This record gives sequence, C-alpha cells and structure tokens, in this order.
Amino acid sequence: MNKRIFLIIALIVCVLSPSFSQTQIIGHRGFWKTDGSAQNSIAALQKADSLKLYGSEVDLWLSADGIAVVNHDATITDNGEKLVVQNTTFDRLRKVVLSNGEPMPTAEEYLDEFVKCKNTKLIIEFKTHATADQERILTQKVVDMVNDRGLQDRVEYIAFGINYLNVLNDIAPDAPAYYLNGDMAPNVVKAMGLSGIDYNLNVIKKYPEWVKECHDLGLKVNVWTVNKMEDINIMLDLNVDFITTDEPLLVKEIIESRK
Ligand code: MG
Repeated sequence: MNKRIFLIIALIVCVLSPSFSQTQIIGHRGFWKTDGSAQNSIAALQKADSLKLYGSEVDLWLSADGIAVVNHDATITDNGEKLVVQNTTFDRLRKVVLSNGEPMPTAEEYLDEFVKCKNTKLIIEFKTHATADQERILTQKVVDMVNDRGLQDRVEYIAFGINYLNVLNDIAPDAPAYYLNGDMAPNVVKAMGLSGIDYNLNVIKKYPEWVKECHDLGLKVNVWTVNKMEDINIMLDLNVDFITTDEPLLVKEIIESRK
C-alpha cells in the first residue's frame, strides 16, 4: 500500500476509534486540592480555570431570606452551631469561613469572578430543597444572573431533582441540563429533552452500555466523582464525555499518557 494512503487511513481510524478519547475534565467543586483553595471557594474556580479544565462545578442553595449561596451540604457547622443552609439567613451564613479563609460566597460573587475566567465553563448544581417554590426561585435568580452577565454559552446546569430540570426547561430551554440521580435510562433522559446524564461512577460501571446508548441518542455522558487511576482508565475506555473529579491533575496526566 502506498505510504501516504496508509497514513491517511491510519489517521481516519485514529479519529474514529472509540479508544481515541475525547473525554474532558470537570473539577468537582472547583480545583480545591491545592494550596490556598477550598471546596466551592472562589479560589477553587480560579484554579480550575488556570488548569484549563472543561468545567468547574459548583453547588448552590437558597438562603432563608432568598440569597443564592455556594455550599455543598444541606447543613454546615459554624462555631459549634449547626446551620441548615436553606433555613438560615444570609447574614448568619456570611459568617461561615471556608478552610482557605474566604467567606461563604454568594452566587453573584461566584458569577462575577466567573466572568473573568478565560477557559473553563461553570457547571452549576442546584441542590434539592424542601419545596418546589424554593427551587423555582433559586433557578430563576441564577438564570437571571447568568443572562445579565451574558454567560449563557458558558454555563451548564445539573440537578438530582426533576423539578429543577422542568423549571429550567420553562425559563432557559436552550441551556444544557443534565440529570444526576442515576435512575433513568438514556431513552427516558432523551425524551425529557435533556443534554445527557451525569451519573455516579457506580451507575456507569453497572450499566456501561448506557454510554454508547447515550451517544447513539445524541446525549452526553458525565461521570462523578472519578478520583482513582483504575476508575479513570475504565471511564476513558468507555469514552465518556466528561469526568468530574477531585483529582484533575491526575486525570490530565492519565489522558496525556494514553495519547
Ligand atoms: Mg455538586
């Protein structure tokens, strides 16, 4: 075979082969396993951006007085006092200090910092609240903030609750939205008009065929939280679209080593 034709065929095979990974990295709660950072801090967003990750994930709650704030858990203990985030006013939540010295950020502050980011997208997780009203208010506030800053093309949404995905479909129908809860097969997710699945690692290990099913349906696959070398390799072999991780440097290294 002519050498040039062989090279062209080899290139085409390489591009089309499922083992040629296009997997991208999302920093789980930003990039926080580094000096000066903390989970869901502004610094974690800046550091995720500096690594040029595809995305930096963040968790949002609505305070009792209607301020969108950044925190992972439903509760947080501050000075020995256990606070339920959605039942606590912003003034009190603001006294919470993250492990890197930052105060608990608001969604406004987070998005203002995100405007300055050059590389990463923001993957916004809406946390499940006690009432559908709270969830609608939080979604509307955040979508308004995103629109006001012209960030529509740089933001994606994720949620465990179907209510959020329905609200998003009402008020931001073009926004990419992913389902987290792991209990819907790809065809159901497709029928809901979502962008894809964002499932726990163990769900994808149990149903590895869902990756190809999603791709065949035009859906994307994100997997969380993939931190161990063995799991990273398994997910890369499956050709998932996104790996959400606390270890973005390790995932980067493994992706590079497989090229
Ligand atoms: Mg999250």
